[in-house]
Amino acid sequence: MTNQSSNLVILGSTGSIGEQALQVVEQHPDRFKVVGLAAGNNLTKLLSQVQKYEPKAVCIGENQYHQCREAVGKNIMCCADVEGMCQLASMEEADVILIAVSGAVGIKPTLAAIRAGKRVALANKETLVAAGDIVMQALEESDSCIIPVDSEHSAVFQCMEGGKHLNNIWLTASGGPFRDYSTEEMQKVSLEMALKHPNWAMGQKITIDSATMMNKGLEVIEAHHLFNHDYEQIKVVIQCESVIHSMVEFVDGSFIGHLGSPDMRIPIQYALTYPERLHSPAKTLDFYKLGAIHFEKPDPERFPAFRIAIEAGKMGGTMPAVMNAANEIAVHRFLERRISFVDIPRITEEVMNRHEQVHQPCLEEIFDADLWARNACDELVRKENNL
Ligand code: MG
Repeated sequence: MTNQSSNLVILGSTGSIGEQALQVVEQHPDRFKVVGLAAGNNLTKLLSQVQKYEPKAVCIGENQYHQCREAVGKNIMCCADVEGMCQLASMEEADVILIAVSGAVGIKPTLAAIRAGKRVALANKETLVAAGDIVMQALEESDSCIIPVDSEHSAVFQCMEGGKHLNNIWLTASGGPFRDYSTEEMQKVSLEMALKHPNWAMGQKITIDSATMMNKGLEVIEAHHLFNHDYEQIKVVIQCESVIHSMVEFVDGSFIGHLGSPDMRIPIQYALTYPERLHSPAKTLDFYKLGAIHFEKPDPERFPAFRIAIEAGKMGGTMPAVMNAANEIAVHRFLERRISFVDIPRITEEVMNRHEQVHQPCLEEIFDADLWARNACDELVRKENNL
């Protein structure tokens, strides 16, 4: 892509990443035209975006489809749910599809965009966690490309341009709000405490995933697929200030790291304009103020979610999809105050233990496993609530 304007579809436009992507668009109005917007259930916000950006097509959850269609009028195509997102992801006029929905619901639209040969700006890690082999295979068979939006993977992607002969990938982690908590203190974590991330402003699901460090486990699986690296070569280090977004280590002992302020508009914009760089309103780093950068080793004992995610990744087959789906449900039940913070990884692991793994699954088997895990997780939550 050169200096011309590109046509953008945003799936998940009312979420945190979607809104920041629209800020990027606003910053560079000559470079982007929004042609499609999809939201889950925030119709009010979607309609105000429609008024501002005048897309050709919109998509909303089934429940609000009729209301949405009425409101946008005849000149805008209106569709619903996952099938609708797939339609938007393969729109003829679209150049770049930003997948910014949360959860495994991103699998089908991502595959649709890849098969239509679009550039995929991927902000949805659950898609690669649950169906990484299938997605990467589809990518190989198409003219599409994936540019990661996840800040760590955007960092690795950029560092890799430093050359071949890579040894290890070093994903950095903030450690979340409970980095220094003991196992005992972790028992008393409330919803309000878990929703306060020290460094990043993000959506609710990923904020809870960061607090349990599940997020870092998911990112290890994401990196395994995106960069075709063995699990043994993907290291995680806590970098408390969140200014080093990740690093790569070469065979000669050189490291290349990517630094920047923790602002998602930077990796979002880069995924949309790669290989070009444009100005960003994000704050630049002030090293004089920063003073020091601290590192720590993550503790899989205190953060069992981190441990089980990587275990699921190494097991492969349907296990990552099951782990991911169980975690999605457990996080939602925690957000509804039905289970406690430490229940999230405990119940997720329990679901994994009950799963009969399928090796080299097809897409249908992944969706079956995903659905099974959601039900199994809910059943466990119900049982425990009745005790
Ligand atoms: Mg990340």
